[in-house]
This record gives sequence, C-alpha cells and structure tokens, in this order.
Amino acid sequence: MQISRITVLSGGMGGARFLQGLLHGVRGGTLPGVSPDAQVTVVANTADDIWVHGLKVCPDLDTVMYTLGDGIDPERGWGRREETWSVRTELAEYGVEPTWFGLGDRDVATHLVRTQMLEAGYPLSAVTEALCRRWLSPVHGEGLRLLPMTDDRVETHVAVADADADEPSGRRVMHFQEYWIRLRASVPAETVVMIGLDRSTPAPGVLEAIRDAELVVLPPSNPVVSVGTILGVPGLRAAVRDTAARVVGLSPIVGGTHVRGMAEQMLTSIGVEVSAAGVGRHYGARSRGGVLDGWLVDTRDEDALPALRDAGLEAAAVPLMMTDPDATAAMAAAAVSLVAPGATA
Ligand code: GDP
Ligand code: CA
Repeated sequence: MQISRITVLSGGMGGARFLQGLLHGVRGGTLPGVSPDAQVTVVANTADDIWVHGLKVCPDLDTVMYTLGDGIDPERGWGRREETWSVRTELAEYGVEPTWFGLGDRDVATHLVRTQMLEAGYPLSAVTEALCRRWLSPVHGEGLRLLPMTDDRVETHVAVADADADEPSGRRVMHFQEYWIRLRASVPAETVVMIGLDRSTPAPGVLEAIRDAELVVLPPSNPVVSVGTILGVPGLRAAVRDTAARVVGLSPIVGGTHVRGMAEQMLTSIGVEVSAAGVGRHYGARSRGGVLDGWLVDTRDEDALPALRDAGLEAAAVPLMMTDPDATAAMAAAAVSLVAPGATA
C-alpha cells in the first residue's frame, strides 16, 4: 500500500526547507512507498505571531507559504524576494517603535490583507487559506494544505536576566520575536512562556489531519518554540500519540548544536540536553507515552543510536544537512524508510 496522506508539524525556516525537499521527493516519485500524488498537510506554529504597527504578522506561516510558493527571499530565508524597505524607513523617520522588526514593502501587503480579514471576523485558518490561494494553489494545486495550529492568540515570551530591569525579579520578559531579532538570542533564555497555549484549541482540520494521516513528520524544526508549541495545543499531542499513522522525526541538532537558529538556547532553557539523542528522548517513543516511532539523526551523531533504541525508538543515522532540495528529499526518503519499510514503491 502506498502512503497518500502526510502531515508535517512545522516551524518556520527549518520546517519550510524540509517541506520543500519533501515535496520535491514526493512529486518526483523518489520517496519509497509514497504516492507522487500524496496529499501533504502542514500544521504550522503560530506562537511566534506578533502584532506590529497594527498588523498581524505570522512569521512561520509566511515562511512556509513564501518558501513553498516560490516567493521567499532565498538568501535571508524569510520575507519576500526582491523586497524593498520604504515602509520601514518611513516608520523609523516617525520614530515609531519597534524599529527592529523587518517589515518589507511587499510583505506588508500580506499583513494588510490578513489583518483586514481578521478584523472582518474571519478566523486565522480561513485567512491563511485565502492567502494560500495566491501562493500555494498555482504551484501545488490541491495537494498541499497549510493550517495554523490554532485560530486562538498564542504568544511565546522569553524571560532573560537583566540587571537594569524594572521588575524586582531582575528579569525582563519579552516577545519571542524581540528575543530572536533584537537580542539575536545572544543572552540565555531563563524561561519560555507560551501565553494562551493551554487555553487554545486546534484550528479546524488539524486533529483530522493528524488522525487521518498515514505518515506524520516532525521536521528538523525547533523542538521548543516550534514543534513544542504545536504539540502544546490541547488535544494535539494526544492526536499524535493515538494516530494510526507512523510518526517520524528528524533531528534539528547536528553534532551537538543547531545548524542555524537558536534551538540550543531554547533546549537549555527547558533543561533538555542539546544533542540529537537529547531531543529524541525529549519527544519520546509513542510506545512509552511520547510522540515518535522513529528518530533520524545525522551521521555525525551515530553514537546516539544505541541510547535512542534503548529509549524505544527506531533510529538511524544519515546526512541531515538541508543543503538543497535533492539532499533534503533524501533525508525525507530516509525518514519514510525508517518507519514504513514495508510501503511499496
Ligand atoms: P524557525 O521557526 O524559523 O526558527 O524554524 P524552525 O523551527 O522550523 O527550524 C529551526 C531549526 O531548524 C533550527 O533551530 C535548527 O536546529 C534546524 N535546522 C536548520 N537548518 C538545518 C539543517 O540543514 N539540518 C538540520 N538537521 N536542522 C536544521
Ligand atoms: Ca518560528
């Protein structure tokens, strides 16, 4: 039997790059046992979302949408290609804060459309679907769906030690985007708080996409502030645990560190060992109450395999650097083979 329904729980840049390779492999027929027509559903993190200058910005949704819709700036890895920055310059002239958040002129159009639709009463999932009609449908037809994890407002905030802070605790709490963009994650994160997460509900179609999938993939996204928040939406972790699909993940930690991003700071803040084995054990085997059947690590982390197998996971080591769509498609193929070796080509 061929796999025809795949659901991926994605953050921004790591998830988007993986999806690009996955789709390349699926449609090119190079994924063992996966139908070239397979339906791919992306459940994206929305806890990075931020209101800036009156606009609702959804960085991870947009990174996935622009990347898979061929509108991304390939060098930056976020925002629109051929971007200009007049709006940002004009706002800075007015002295309007925040000045650290990069709102490109082309990008602003997306945020304007989104904000208007939200204010007209549409839920984020409906807004996302409308935006994807421009970006994804022309390239991918009906075979690709992008869903926000929830329609509710959820925001990741980060506490950092700050001697100058007004608060008696000597800490400063800021939106995740400020920690990442303004501070460049250069100071340790003491605590990460997901505001509103425990009261959120999965967006329409999310639980069904997990329940009805034949393969669920945790891409090499940030395990705390991307996949961690998605799994934190009430009901979502249970859906992954209970799905009849096989569940496979790929390590975002290679050779003891994140490749790009700040998974290291986030893992440290929640006390998880920064290693491929540490993240695999953090997600855990479904047979032992976790969310994974299989965990793929980089060849550099081959030493971790015995410990992962002891933890009840199927595990293998292959190159995990997403250098181009072919290399990434090979990672996706290895992930499928790890958990669905019986699927026929
Ligand atoms: P974000 O929302 O833009 O931070 O993106 P994600 O959460 O989807 O992914 C970020 C994570 O991707 C980083 O913390 C890295 O650990 C991981 N990552 C980025 N590039 C690579 C790569 O080439 N290989 C692997 N294995 N992981 C990567
Ligand atoms: Ca993100």
